[in-house]
Amino acid sequence: MSMHGQVFVKNNQYKMRGDFHHLTPNTPIRDADNGWRLLGVTNPRDMTYIHSYGGEAVFFESLSQKKLLATRCDNRNCESEGTIHIPFRIHCPDCLARNTIIDLTDIAKKTARIHTFMVCARSGAFNVLAKPITFINIEFDGVPTILMSYLSLGEPAFGMKVVPIFKTSEPTFTILDLSWVPEGTKNNQLPEGFAF
Ligand SMILES: [Zn+2]
Repeated sequence: MSMHGQVFVKNNQYKMRGDFHHLTPNTPIRDADNGWRLLGVTNPRDMTYIHSYGGEAVFFESLSQKKLLATRCDNRNCESEGTIHIPFRIHCPDCLARNTIIDLTDIAKKTARIHTFMVCARSGAFNVLAKPITFINIEFDGVPTILMSYLSLGEPAFGMKVVPIFKTSEPTFTILDLSWVPEGTKNNQLPEGFAF
C-alpha cells in the first residue's frame, strides 16, 4: 500500500509527502430478493485530514511530557480576571484577550474529583478506547470550568478523587493521551504506555 500522507512545516509552509487520499473501487449494491437488481453502489473513501492545533499545540505536546496545561485571563480590565480555563482556551471568552498559559498538573494531582460520569457501551466510528468507555467530568479546586476525559481504571462515583495519567510512550498527540485513575492507584496498575 502507498504511504499515508505526512506533513511538516518549513518556511511557514506545509510540506506534504505521501498520499492524502486513496481511490478504492466501488462495488454494486444488489437486491437479493428481486433477481439481484441494482440498487446502488458503495463509495469507499479514505482520506488524511490535516488538523492544525494552532495555539493549542502546546497543550497536546505537554501531555506527552506529563504536564496538564490550562489558561488564565490576566486582563485587569476583564470582569473575569483570574478565571482559569481547562479545557485549554487560547482566548478569554469574556474579553477576548489572549490568556496566560499555566501549569495545572499539581492542582489536578491534589484536587481533581469526578463531578459526574457516563458509561458508554457503544461508540462512534474510529473509536480506539476499550469499551465500555467511562467518560468523566472533572472538577478542580479554584477552577470554574469542567474537563471532560475518561477513567482508565475502577468504577466511577460522584466526588471520587482521581489523578491524571499521561501517555508518554508512543503518544498520539490527541486528547486521548490524557486519562485518569482513582487516587491511590499504583504504578504497576497503569495502562500500557501511561505514567503519572
Ligand atoms: Zn478576560
